[in-house]
Amino acid sequence: MEVVPVAHREPRLRNSFGVHSDVEARTLVRLTTADGTTGVGETYGNGATIGELERARSLVEGMDPYDRRRLALRMQRGRGRGEASNAAYAAVETALLDVVGKATGQRVVDLLGGAVRDSVEYSAYLFYKEADPDPEAAAVTPGEVLTPEAMVEEAREFREAFGFETLKLKAGVLDPEEEVRTLELLAEEFGADVPLRIDPNGLWSVETTVRIARRLREADLTLQFLEDPVPSANAHARLKRRVDYPVATNMFVTAFDDVAPAVEQDAVDVVLSDHHYWGGPRANVDLDRVCRTFDLGVGMHSNSHLGVSMAAMTHVGAAMPTMLYAADTHYPWEAEDVVAEPLGFEDGRQPVPDGPGLGVELDEAAVERMHERYVEHEPERDDTAAMIERNPDWVPNKPAY
Ligand code: MG
Repeated sequence: MEVVPVAHREPRLRNSFGVHSDVEARTLVRLTTADGTTGVGETYGNGATIGELERARSLVEGMDPYDRRRLALRMQRGRGRGEASNAAYAAVETALLDVVGKATGQRVVDLLGGAVRDSVEYSAYLFYKEADPDPEAAAVTPGEVLTPEAMVEEAREFREAFGFETLKLKAGVLDPEEEVRTLELLAEEFGADVPLRIDPNGLWSVETTVRIARRLREADLTLQFLEDPVPSANAHARLKRRVDYPVATNMFVTAFDDVAPAVEQDAVDVVLSDHHYWGGPRANVDLDRVCRTFDLGVGMHSNSHLGVSMAAMTHVGAAMPTMLYAADTHYPWEAEDVVAEPLGFEDGRQPVPDGPGLGVELDEAAVERMHERYVEHEPERDDTAAMIERNPDWVPNKPAY
């Protein structure tokens, strides 16, 4: 078992927590079996997750790659949200599935029960952002995007380059009125029926969100759901009694223990899954079934990630029958990758990689280069600290509007 943290360049994307730093980390897990078969997984690059992976080494080395359930129970010691042990296990399970897939000639999606779709639809993940310090090296939209008009140009680039239909606006950055104006301009530009989403990451109060929802109803646009508009599960429950838009979350239902209270409170309509923190690919497919049981919609959340996670997300999404919403991905924003052949999008969809396993190979030179950068910087993601560095008066207050 090799645990290889890598650091990648990151655009200065804004959100209600602050701003992404120029260099951010991911961790690769590479497993090699006694007969030389290799498998790879990817997860968060924070120190807590890397620590959990190091702790798991004695459990993983020497194990049978089919013996995943016992490993999950041994590694996933916490029950709550944000457990580093979940994120660590996700990478190991992904690598084990890659190994078993290569050994048996099967795709990861086949090991998860088989594909319900041949490709997975993704949304354009639109961010307000600062200008890239090295515009030549940016993958997309190198300039500053801090106005509704600039966001229309960003969306145009995403639609033309990748064919995305659904437009997801990461909000909680400008005044809410400006962010509504952004949605209005997007609908004016790309059509009233273009599917839109807005995600202020809990920055708005219930009252403000009710007012915004009324304004959106009056506008000629198609909003799929409000994503995490308010800052708690309880606030979502109160909000849901007062707006007629579906409400989605990846902040307040993030572990199986959160599901029962959310259903009892009627706090959410759509759960945004994520195999990195729901406990691995298999658990993420289980979540799809749980949501189906309670008539909840299913989508997929994204954190900044590289090509190994991209492939895993597509295999997992293709195995989830209830996931009818386009998934989120940061992948188009990333200018460098650890996989030899970066995965592409066709008409906003990503075909399930052929496999066997995940169907990706590492670019060893890129992994080495990005690992050296990790050793040099040891980046620990902290959007709030990065924002306060820019603006010492900035306070992450929620709700702020
Ligand atoms: Mg979100």
